Amino acid sequence: MIIVQKYGGTSVADAKRINHVAKRIAGVYNSGKKIVVVLSAQGSVTDRLLQKAHEINPSASKRELDMLLSTGEQQSVALMAMALQRMGLPAISLNAVQIGLESSGQYGNARIKRIHTTRILEELSKDNIVLIAGFQGVNSIGDITTLGRGASDTTAVALAAVLEAELCEICTDVDGVYTADPRVVPTAKKLNTISYDEMLEMSCQVLHNRAAEMAKRHNVKLIIRSSMTEEPGTEIREACKVEDLYVSGVAIDRDVAQISVLGIKNQPGAAYKIFALLADKKISVDVILQNPGMEAITDISFTVAKQDRDEALEVLKASQDQIGYKAITNNDSLAKLSIVGAGMTTAHGVASGMFEALYENNINIIMISTSEIKITVLVDDHNAEKAKQVVHDKFIV
Ligand code: ASP
Ligand code: MG
Repeated sequence: MIIVQKYGGTSVADAKRINHVAKRIAGVYNSGKKIVVVLSAQGSVTDRLLQKAHEINPSASKRELDMLLSTGEQQSVALMAMALQRMGLPAISLNAVQIGLESSGQYGNARIKRIHTTRILEELSKDNIVLIAGFQGVNSIGDITTLGRGASDTTAVALAAVLEAELCEICTDVDGVYTADPRVVPTAKKLNTISYDEMLEMSCQVLHNRAAEMAKRHNVKLIIRSSMTEEPGTEIREACKVEDLYVSGVAIDRDVAQISVLGIKNQPGAAYKIFALLADKKISVDVILQNPGMEAITDISFTVAKQDRDEALEVLKASQDQIGYKAITNNDSLAKLSIVGAGMTTAHGVASGMFEALYENNINIIMISTSEIKITVLVDDHNAEKAKQVVHDKFIV
């Protein structure tokens, strides 16, 4: 059986840490397992490369950026191979071209299409430790692409899926997934398990979103753990009732701007017109709310990422006659607070618990939306931290 491990940038930031990680890899290898290791670029190397590119050409082409950025991961795997070889262990570093990790064409944010396993299996059968550069792929014309910031996690999960690995371990600088960011919410607790869906809804910093998606689709056993300790970490798996918690996480997102389109004629096609205009501009919309309205007049409010606000306002204003509305307002000093939990589907009183915690602390709710395993409210940005803490403590004690 094969084990896939992924080590993030902080875990391989300098020679000392590379040697430490090499010892961990050696431990797995010496226990008789076949091991494939995916690495990220060291520390802030990717950011520094971006910075360098910017100094030379602020509008550098995406193709050349990918050529540059993909070198960070290549440095890491080569250095790790050297560290392992120095310990007397057989190790080989490989990049996306060498293994045949095929991606879609789009530079900067390509998707993995296919991974050939021949070379990897060949190296494993020669008892090599196989080190693979994360974050990169090769598109149909043979160019290097990158898979989106933070995507080494996704490389690791994709490899675990095609190699039918027994386990994919994401080894990082935190010891697992918490109910909230422990730096912000001191009462946050570490979870032993969490479901794929919850992980996706929390869109949590610890794991690249597409990695959770892919793990779910291919049923990869995924563990997030610290690269510094032997603690077991958090296991991500199919829905399970998580440790008797209805709510397994509280998340905040400050990158929201709310737009309200007021005084719309309440007739078929109004919402379609608004959202088709936004879709045309590739603006993604999140929370949407429509009032029942009085006298055939209605209001529609929705949220977009802050960077999309101006463009959204522009297209809507330009189409005022076509849509038929009276006014537009917007607000970008808001935060989106969500509680996530697979246990919510069968529980009752979760929404009221959340609203009660906010009411008790005099925090006003601006918009509400729900999905099967998530409740989201919009609150004033200046209330965000407090709201997160009180809602967290309402459910997680
Ligand atoms: N080095 C890349 C980044 O910083 C990929 C990764 O770390 O997963 O985004
Ligand atoms: Mg990461």
